[in-house]
Amino acid sequence: MGKAIGIDLGTTNSCAAIFENGKPRLISYKSGETTIPSVFAIDEEGNRLVGHEAKKQAQLNPVNTVQASKRLIGRNFHSKTIDKVRQVFTYELVEGESSDILIKVKDQVFTLEQISAAILAQIKQVAEDALGEEVDQAVITVPAYFNDRQRQAVRSAGALANLKVLRVLNEPTAAALAYGLGRNLSARVAVYDLGGGTFDISIIDIKDRIFEVVATGGDTFLGGVDFDDKVMQMILQEFLEQTGVDLSWDRVAIQRIRDAAEEAKIRLSTVSETKINVPYIANGEDGPLDVDMELSRARLEELTGELVDRTIQTCARIFGEADCTAKDVDEMLLVGGQSRMPLVQSLVTEFMGKPPSKGVNPDEAVAIGAAMMAHSLAGQSDDGLTLLDVLPMPIGINKTDGTMHVLFKKNQPLPDYKTRTLTTSKENQRSIMLRLYQGESKFVEDNELLGTFVFSGIRPAPKGKVQIEVTFHIDSEGILGLTARDKATGQTVESHLKLGKSAPGEGKKKKKKKKKKKAAAAPTPPPTPLTMPTSSLAAELEGKGPARPEKKESDPTAPLPDKREPQVIQPERKTRLVKPEKAEKTGFWAWLKSLLGLE
Ligand code: AMP
Repeated sequence: MGKAIGIDLGTTNSCAAIFENGKPRLISYKSGETTIPSVFAIDEEGNRLVGHEAKKQAQLNPVNTVQASKRLIGRNFHSKTIDKVRQVFTYELVEGESSDILIKVKDQVFTLEQISAAILAQIKQVAEDALGEEVDQAVITVPAYFNDRQRQAVRSAGALANLKVLRVLNEPTAAALAYGLGRNLSARVAVYDLGGGTFDISIIDIKDRIFEVVATGGDTFLGGVDFDDKVMQMILQEFLEQTGVDLSWDRVAIQRIRDAAEEAKIRLSTVSETKINVPYIANGEDGPLDVDMELSRARLEELTGELVDRTIQTCARIFGEADCTAKDVDEMLLVGGQSRMPLVQSLVTEFMGKPPSKGVNPDEAVAIGAAMMAHSLAGQSDDGLTLLDVLPMPIGINKTDGTMHVLFKKNQPLPDYKTRTLTTSKENQRSIMLRLYQGESKFVEDNELLGTFVFSGIRPAPKGKVQIEVTFHIDSEGILGLTARDKATGQTVESHLKLGKSAPGEGKKKKKKKKKKKAAAAPTPPPTPLTMPTSSLAAELEGKGPARPEKKESDPTAPLPDKREPQVIQPERKTRLVKPEKAEKTGFWAWLKSLLGLE
């Protein structure tokens, strides 16, 4: 068995840590750095580059350099957020078969899992070099506000990188472990995590070795990159006003300005005034033009204050959900590089009525906590570490009026399961379709479609005479699975997931056409979509209280206890809905194998 490490797979940077000789430590690279840029590229010669090498050449090769791709994971190609991103991203996004996002680099198309896998494989390699031993297991952290699909994607990426993913762990929870494990604490902490691409806030109770998340929330599209964008937009605008030259179409210029904007932003965390200088950015009538301007901390705060305000508003909402005030929280931990900004620190201090804790290093805490968890899960300690997490967003199915019938509520303790009975609405109906959504909106169309389940092979019978009992279960990582059985015969009903990623209302024409074609070719009718009626059927079904199947220890699909029992964490088998993408398509697998030394 190889070693188990903790990996903080960040939007802009990633880092890894290991727990050895009774304490955790960051793994450093030959050059001494402890972070690796989450960047993937293919250069002019066709070489695949990851990390520092990829970042170094980004300004010269922006079109074939993939940065911040974590922001795209689990999103719909047609979503409004992706429209916005397309304007500032320098590489090409391509629509996948089910409206998922693929990335085109030098005539090759990659899935987001493949890009993340390349970064994970590099981290694995660096860790093996540093430790002189094989590394084959990892705890990988994700934003607490990631949905089921985004979590699945990270698991798939880990598998592609030949890592046994011991657990997908929420970043704020990891930070709380780094802060509290082994200190015999009894405290309520809040973790404010503002990284490169995402914001999370979690409220966590620590009682010695029991870490219980009370409430969590966030924004998977709010992070340091947005602060850089604001500065970048300001530079582009001022440059246009001063010179009459519009650089917004020039990808090389955008990349150079973005880098300069980020550097200036970071400097302004320690100084109050800085220069932004990007030489030879364009050719003017009288020769080369430079970006040459001053930026003050006050101006930066003016430009980005609204982003910080949004984080504070989310904090207020989550404190409300946890039914507590700032006074009830012992410490506020600040995590993520962007939390180093003085405005963040002062607004958090104002919100809490006291300064944030100095007990964790914002850049290291997440990887350190993940390493502690990996050590515990890999069976290398019997520390009795117990973690109780919650569901970040409701999961449900659609009702006929377009609203969501919530199966699992936000902030509900994990793991959990729910049972519902579905029935046929046509004579001899052989299949039923069910759509599952996740999100906080009342309406399904504003939420994320997790997938469409098709239950097939239903025995022929008059309508309403077959009852299919479906058990939905969410494991301790917030990953969803389901099983179905015919109530009368007790037989398992086959179900499979079709990734339905189209945004509602979008790509309808295309779909209609496809449907028509399919209908002509297919002899069997398509599955009948099932929606929860607006009537009290949902409650009625719940009220019937279907007999709970007995839980067998060895059966990963067995229902889970509905009462929250402290769960001693052990490596567990996962029931997954999504298979890792077929990497062979792009020759990527061969490259990954060679990177991992498998060939
Ligand atoms: P992380 O994902 O935690 O590595 O956070 C990376 C983000 O933090 C990037 O957007 C950085 O620009 C930002 N960042 C790092 N250091 C600082 C700093 N001293 N002040 C402001 N932002 C920073």
